[in-house]
Amino acid sequence: MLIRNIGLLFSGDVAMPLLDADSILIEGGRITQVGRALEGAGPRIDAQGCAVVPGLIDNHVHPAFGDWTPRQNQLGWIEAFAHGGVTTMVSAGEVHVPGRPKDPVGVRALAIAAQRCFDAFRPLGVKVLAGAPVPERAMTAADYAGMAQDGIRWLGEIGLGTVRDPEEAARHARWARAAGLNSMIHCGGPSIAGSNRMGHEAVCAADADIVAHINGGPTSLSADELTKVMAGTRRANEIVHNGNPRTALHALRTLGEMAALARLVVGTDSPAGSGVQPLGILRTIAFLASVGGLDPGVAIATATGNIAHWRGLEQGIIAAGRPADLVFMDAPLGGAGRDAAQSLALGDLPGIGGVIIDGVARIVGRSRNTPPPGRIPEWTT
Ligand SMILES: [Zn+2]
Repeated sequence: MLIRNIGLLFSGDVAMPLLDADSILIEGGRITQVGRALEGAGPRIDAQGCAVVPGLIDNHVHPAFGDWTPRQNQLGWIEAFAHGGVTTMVSAGEVHVPGRPKDPVGVRALAIAAQRCFDAFRPLGVKVLAGAPVPERAMTAADYAGMAQDGIRWLGEIGLGTVRDPEEAARHARWARAAGLNSMIHCGGPSIAGSNRMGHEAVCAADADIVAHINGGPTSLSADELTKVMAGTRRANEIVHNGNPRTALHALRTLGEMAALARLVVGTDSPAGSGVQPLGILRTIAFLASVGGLDPGVAIATATGNIAHWRGLEQGIIAAGRPADLVFMDAPLGGAGRDAAQSLALGDLPGIGGVIIDGVARIVGRSRNTPPPGRIPEWTT
């Protein structure tokens, strides 16, 4: 597959967000070449001057089973996210599964079942990286090691279960890391029933790979306490759509002043009590770029390459060898911006005109959820 005539080509890399290229060559589901006026056989896409960005990654979802969420009793939410440009989502814990088990064997069984089911079930091709056990007090180092052997890669949010004090949070995070799991800790007030307020002592002590929703999920710590979290941790800090917008801006500015924007990742923290937002990642990027004044290419990196880095994923970067997960976007019809970057800077949601996952065209033409893009790629087989 050959894509030509790309307007803006966003790399997903926070260090160099815009590429000097207008074509992408894809073979066997992977990007093989990025450059100018490339040639190749196979299907061709004329991007018509649209922007191309890496498939967006939602760093924070709470899936259950299938394309259904019991929290909002809604069907088809994962497919709806694909129409918002999301091609990968990472589970922060399957906490909404009705009757979620809390004993160690049950926690392990649920994680393994979730991982296996979503590995085999890809609505519209979306990669749901699930199987994220929530730490409970009765779990031991052997539980984490056993789960890692069974194929579990992610730890659900520390603090959503019975593990909550700084020493025990640190102990479970250490066991998870020793087993090779990528970890996450809840930050802020309680959310679901049985969850806890996780303040800066526990969050800093845990040293998890991701500080979940630094702007609250949904209840935020105070700005002063958040500054302590950002200064006291050295890995990823996450801003979510379903959080507090005021402290999201505080986090953005503080990380910017610390020259630590490579640590910023975004998610929706959905499905949640506040809903399911198919355009939640686009909205978060537009919020950071417009109200927060963040460079649009860097804003895109917070939802792609930055997550790839902290989660250890191949996708999220446009470069030779990477999976061909790509989204076409442009200024929405009727908006003040001339291209996707200007629209984001002005706070408009770009229109999506196509989605490719692993080199397979999954959405051809206009997304059903975004406003219509000004330009739409032309596909020829
Ligand atoms: Zn949380």
